[in-house]
Amino acid sequence: MIDAATLLPEDEARARVLALASPLPAEWVALDEGLGRALAEDVIAQRTLPPWDNSAMDGYAVRAADLSGPLPARMLVLETIYAGAAPRQTLRPRTCSRIMTGAPLPAGADAVVMRERARPVPDGGVDQVDLLEAVEAGQFVRPRGEDARQGEVLLARGTPLGIPELGLLWAQGRTSATVPRRPRVAILSTGDELCRVDEPPDGRIVDTNAPSLALAVRRAGGVPSLLGIARDTRDAVAEALGRAEGFDVVLTSAGVSVGERDYVKEVLAAIGVQQHLWRVAIKPGKPLVVGQRASTLFFGLPGNPTSSLVTFELFVRPALRRMLGFSDVTPPRVGGRLDGRLAKPPGLAHFVRVTAAWRDGGLWARPLATQTSGALRSAAAATHLLHFPREASSLAHGDPVELLPLSWGA
Ligand code: AMP
Ligand code: MG
Repeated sequence: MIDAATLLPEDEARARVLALASPLPAEWVALDEGLGRALAEDVIAQRTLPPWDNSAMDGYAVRAADLSGPLPARMLVLETIYAGAAPRQTLRPRTCSRIMTGAPLPAGADAVVMRERARPVPDGGVDQVDLLEAVEAGQFVRPRGEDARQGEVLLARGTPLGIPELGLLWAQGRTSATVPRRPRVAILSTGDELCRVDEPPDGRIVDTNAPSLALAVRRAGGVPSLLGIARDTRDAVAEALGRAEGFDVVLTSAGVSVGERDYVKEVLAAIGVQQHLWRVAIKPGKPLVVGQRASTLFFGLPGNPTSSLVTFELFVRPALRRMLGFSDVTPPRVGGRLDGRLAKPPGLAHFVRVTAAWRDGGLWARPLATQTSGALRSAAAATHLLHFPREASSLAHGDPVELLPLSWGA
C-alpha cells in the first residue's frame, strides 16, 4: 500500500519542476529556423503595415455617403487603380475609382463596393458605372496599420513562432530573430536486463527508452545525446552520470523505485544533486525523481516504457519548453466525454491512454484495452491521456473528461 498523503499532486509537482527551469541564453536564427521556437525578444514594429488604407476586393472605391440615396447610383469613374500603383485622383461627390485588391484607396474614398455589386453603363464616351447597393464607411477597406503600427510591440517575448508570426516578421524586413538556444539533454538508461538494439538479446530486453526519449526530446525542441546503458551498481550509475557534464538536462530511466538495486536516487544525492521531488500521485509515473545541480536539471524517470513517456509529457516537456522560452508551458487540455466506463481506487490520478475522435458534436475518448505501464502497446494508438482525477473512483459513459493531446504520435 502506498501512503497517498506523501505523494505530490501532479500540478504541484510540475510547479516545482518549472520553478527550476528558466529560458536559456538567446541565439540568432534565420527566421525559417525559428519556426516552432519562442521569441527571446520583444519585437518592435519598425514599419506600419499596411502603409495605407487599401482595398480588400476588386471593385469601386467610393464615398459611402454617395450611396445613401436611391439605388442604383450612377457614378463617374475617375481612374483605375492597380495593386502596386498610386492613385492620382481625389474623389468628389458622385465619383468613384475602379480599384483592384491591395491597391491604395484614393483620397476621399472611405469604402469599396465589390465588382459583383456594380453594373457597367453602356459606353457613351464617358466611363460610368451603376452601383447596386449601399455600403457602410470602412466596408472592404483594409485599414492602414492593421498588421503593424510603427513603435508598438508587434510580438512579445515568449511568443511561439508559427508561420503567420514569421510572416509578420518578414513583412517588417526581418530575416532573423533571437530565440533561446536549444536545451542539451543527456539520456541514460539503467538496468542489468538491458541491451542495445544491435546486440543479441541473450535473455535481455532491448533498451527502447533511450531512443524513444531522444525522439521525444527532439520533438520538444531539445538536442538529445545518448549516454548508453549503466548496469545496476552504484559505481556504474555514478560513472555514467559523471559523463553528463555540460548538459542542461539529464534524463535517466529506471532504478528510481524502491527495488533493491534502484540506485539512481542515491547516486544523484552522492554526486551533489539536490532532490526537489520524489514520487507524484499519478499512474503511470509515480516514482519520478527531480533534482538540480548548478544549472543542470536531473529527471529520474521510471523505467516502464509508458511511464517514462507519460512523465516526459507531464514534466520534462514543460521544463524544456520553459528553457526554450515559451510563455505558456503547461500541457494543453481539451474537454471531451468518456466513451466507456472507468473505475479505480482514490489516491492517484490516472492518466488513461485513449483514442479520441470527434463524433455527434463532441470529442469522445475511448480507453485503450491495455493500460499497463510496462506494455508499450498500451501507448501505441493513443491520441490523448484522459485525466481521471485523484479522488475520483468512477467515471460513467458520457461523463465530461479532461484530455491531454499527446506529442508522441505520428
Ligand atoms: P525499474 O524502474 O528499474 O524497476 O524498471 C521498471 C521496468 O521497466 C522493468 O520491467 C524494466 O525492465 C523496464 N525498463 C527499464 N528500463 C528500460 C529501458 N531502457 N527500455 C525498456 N524497458 C525498460
Ligand atoms: Mg531496474
